[in-house]
Amino acid sequence: MIPKNEPSFRQSVDMMFNRAVALLDLSPGLEQKIRVCNSTYTVRFGVRLRGQLTTFTGYRSVHSEHMEPVKGGIRYSLGVNQDEVEALAALMTYKCALVEAPFGGSKGGLCIDPREWNEQELELITRRFAYELIKRDLIHPSQNVPAPDMGTGEREMAWIADQYARMNTTDINSRACVTGKPLNAGGIAGRVEATGRGVQYALQEFFRHPEDVKIANLAGTLDGKRVIVQGLGNVGYHAALFLSEMDGCKVIGVIERDGGIQNADGIDIDALRDHMIRTGGVAGFTGGTFIKDGAKLLEEACDILIPAALEGVINMGNAARIKAPLIIEAANGPITAGADEVLRNKGTVIIPDMYANAGGVTVSYFEWVKNLSHIRFGRMQRRQEEGRHQLLIDELERLSNDKQLGWELSPGFKEQYLRGAGELELVRSGLDDTMRIAYQNMREVWHGKEGVTDLRMAAYLVSIGRVAASYRAKGL
Ligand code: NAD
Repeated sequence: MIPKNEPSFRQSVDMMFNRAVALLDLSPGLEQKIRVCNSTYTVRFGVRLRGQLTTFTGYRSVHSEHMEPVKGGIRYSLGVNQDEVEALAALMTYKCALVEAPFGGSKGGLCIDPREWNEQELELITRRFAYELIKRDLIHPSQNVPAPDMGTGEREMAWIADQYARMNTTDINSRACVTGKPLNAGGIAGRVEATGRGVQYALQEFFRHPEDVKIANLAGTLDGKRVIVQGLGNVGYHAALFLSEMDGCKVIGVIERDGGIQNADGIDIDALRDHMIRTGGVAGFTGGTFIKDGAKLLEEACDILIPAALEGVINMGNAARIKAPLIIEAANGPITAGADEVLRNKGTVIIPDMYANAGGVTVSYFEWVKNLSHIRFGRMQRRQEEGRHQLLIDELERLSNDKQLGWELSPGFKEQYLRGAGELELVRSGLDDTMRIAYQNMREVWHGKEGVTDLRMAAYLVSIGRVAASYRAKGL
């Protein structure tokens, strides 16, 4: 939560926007057009639950329609309010522009603690909320396409898709009305893990540039880097898992709602996640030391800090004590505008949210395209690709049978090379490519444009430039 004495989340986003836009030569009119949120719809609806009528409040905010459909998650949390959804919708506009996903920005939220309701009740509530949005085209394959966010996942997206299909029985593209659905309801392989996977790819790309790594006062590769993660939900869990399993990082701290776990030798992420699912928290986990005031772990020494829970957790109250030289914002808005300045002045390198967590919307884009094309990626070409590879393998095997040449295929090469790319491999390749290119676009501006001091400013400049070009092309 943002401390009361600091600007609100939306004001923070605007302040960061203003800092960047000062370096662009935009007309004041266009600047204001891009900054403001186009519309926010508030809905209050009643659902009969446990013998009485309960009223819920939800929002769907559309920040920019320079491209349609607009896109952005639906969040279930008691902290949801208009300011928050508007800030998140604005971030979606810039995020989509940065990773070249052809969408405007939107976001939705329902003021609810999902843990207070059982599955059947949540389905009723979700369907009713979806009904309110669908009948106003605020959920629609060509106008507004939600996705999961905090407190929602595949299950809620499947209910929303089904609700839309029931209300639009002749819409052949109905599955494209929402992304993040389960595979058997029109989802795409790799979507659940996509945002965490994107965080991993973002860090891998950062470490491919030694000059950037040096600015963060670090050296070498990801191997052996000490990581602290806040939030072991969808994004935090996958990021922590992939970084520890594949890149050799050591997750030395995990912060959750009920406290933190610390272990200098590295935490077994899957074991901790299993413990959380069983007990509802991290307390009682035997693979590390429990710390009641988990947020204190944000201030511990580490190489990479990954806030992956909620906004405003690094603020004027703790910014000066943050020791991590590199922060990657897996959550949206985890650093307030004031804290951002304190950290920048200290030399902390921040990989900004609009880039760091863009893996989710990138794979959502692939899912939307899959739904509109009504075919699984790789279905047409996979076996043809394998056939061509077989030709080459046959030829190599023929040559390696020639004892005079003395050739031998390396162990495992044949199996690896023969395997054609299925949907998951293609999704990962598309995501990796997107994260690499977006980082390179940002760093070109970071190092190449006068007055640009940091990656966040660079990210805003790339995005705003693209949104402005799009508005200009429309004659605005
Ligand atoms: P989630 O609900 O799956 O997980 C959030 C986790 O944070 C939970 O484990 C929760 O217990 C924990 N948490 C909540 N309050 C906390 C606190 N005060 N301290 C420590 N931990 C706390 O949500 P998610 O989908 O992983 O989203 C997390 C962040 O990532 C949000 O900012 C969201 O907007 C952003 N994001 C998510 C996606 C996505 O695809 N899910 C995409 C882009 C950005």
